[in-house]
Amino acid sequence: MAPARAEILARAEAAYLGLALGDALGATVEFMTPREIAREFGVHRDITGGGWLRLKPGRVTDDTTMSLALGEAIINDRGEVRALSCARAFDAWMRAKPVDIGNTVRRNLVAFRRSGDPEAPPSEQDAGNGAAMRVLPVALASFGRPEAEVRVCVRAQAHVTHHNAMSDAACEFLALALQDFLRGDSLREVFLRRVQPLVTAHPAFAFRGRPRREYPSGWVVETLQAVLQSFIDVGGFESCLVDVVNRGGDADTTGAIAGMLCGALYGMAALPPRWLKALDPKVRAACSDQARSLLGPC
Ligand SMILES: [Mg+2]
Repeated sequence: MAPARAEILARAEAAYLGLALGDALGATVEFMTPREIAREFGVHRDITGGGWLRLKPGRVTDDTTMSLALGEAIINDRGEVRALSCARAFDAWMRAKPVDIGNTVRRNLVAFRRSGDPEAPPSEQDAGNGAAMRVLPVALASFGRPEAEVRVCVRAQAHVTHHNAMSDAACEFLALALQDFLRGDSLREVFLRRVQPLVTAHPAFAFRGRPRREYPSGWVVETLQAVLQSFIDVGGFESCLVDVVNRGGDADTTGAIAGMLCGALYGMAALPPRWLKALDPKVRAACSDQARSLLGPC
């Protein structure tokens, strides 16, 4: 039996809050090595702000704010994912001087300002995690549509800044896995239906039989390896997020991606109350509101 909308909505809201919580948790230790984190925090497990961005406790970074900018554009387009609207929303987001911005995002948004073309040129180099980190609003807006349509929506938003096959593979995998979890599918089902085919099609993403991926870079392959090792082989909402951000490196983004997956799988009850309390209340409200609007009547 298909789950009721209320159940799907609760998992969607947990995914959006999970993204923000993982971002806020990880930002403190972004660009640190596991050894540096251990020396300073023992285990980093609380939302305390700081880090290289000197964030106030509970503040989030580009992972969450770009997702919210994208979500707003999709809501304004009544649930459609239009590349031009996405590009304009990201451009407005960049003009508002965000706390941080990735190099690929900046370069291709500057190119959009000049050309007016919302699709970045294909690039072997643009395999960063910047499109994957903000895929959640598209997964929510395209929930219930045929898989081929979901993939088209995912690429429309991704190609504004990242026109790259590995980025596409990661973004499509994440959106489809998130939708499976919203429907109530188990981790085992999603492992067989989404994770294994991803690794078969793109062996670079293999995360088992390899050393623990520590200090993951912004390369989407390393990002996803770290996330999958924590999400599948550690599990649990809090334990997964703590495990992934304590690897350091691009910890706000590994936290954000792990957070959306964990939220969709484990639901609202799994979100640690102390983390929700620490999260910027405006961000918390925006995530909840957007989850509801993006999902629509479904
Ligand atoms: Mg960030």
